[in-house]
Amino acid sequence: MSRAEKIAKMAKTTAEQAKQKSIIAKKRTKAKKGVLFEAHKHCVECSIPISLNNESLICDNENCRINQERKEKSRKRLTILLYLGVGIFIVPILIQIIGALT
Ligand SMILES: [Zn+2]
Repeated sequence: MSRAEKIAKMAKTTAEQAKQKSIIAKKRTKAKKGVLFEAHKHCVECSIPISLNNESLICDNENCRINQERKEKSRKRLTILLYLGVGIFIVPILIQIIGALT
């Protein structure tokens, strides 16, 4: 890839990022206007106000959904690891207790 091409690509990426940001900013303003005086909660990812009627903790944004799913998965993995660790710790003790009883 030539230098000029690289620069052109970089410029394009930045422009797209700026566009994305402006979309998010617009969404925020819109959402704020919509539910300003109603009871509401905030998206756990981007913290824009969302309706209380919305069952999920996040807004409709695709990025928020993906991030939330990723977090959920890592949280589940952590929980499993925790139980596994406790299990590994407790099982030998249980075996010893059972052994002492019989
Ligand atoms: Zn969000």
